[in-house]
Amino acid sequence: MAYTSTNPYLNARCEYVLAKLALIGNPDGEDETWSPLVDAQALGSQDAQRAHETGEDIPVPAFFADVPELKREWFSGWNWYDEMVDMQNCSGCNNSRGDPCPCHG
Ligand SMILES: [Zn+2]
Repeated sequence: MAYTSTNPYLNARCEYVLAKLALIGNPDGEDETWSPLVDAQALGSQDAQRAHETGEDIPVPAFFADVPELKREWFSGWNWYDEMVDMQNCSGCNNSRGDPCPCHG
C-alpha cells in the first residue's frame, strides 16, 4: 500500500478507495476491496469489545460513516462480537455438549 497512517480507520478507508479506483482504471483487474472490508469488520469487533469493557459509547467511525460498505462491515464485526458475548452468557450455549443453543446455533 502506498499510503500508511497510524489511524487504522483511515488506513482501511484509503485502501478501500484505492481498490475502488484500481477497478475503475482496470475493470478486468482483481477486486481487492475485500481486504479493507475485512479490516473494517475486525475494527468493528475491536470497538465492540472496547465499548463492552469500558462502557464507552462508540459511534460509527467518521472514516466509515459515509461509505456504506465499510459501515456495514464495521457493524457486522460489532454484531459478531455482541453475539459472541451473548453466547458466553447463554446457559443454552454453555451446555455439556459445547454446542450452541437453537437461537445462537
Ligand atoms: Zn445460546
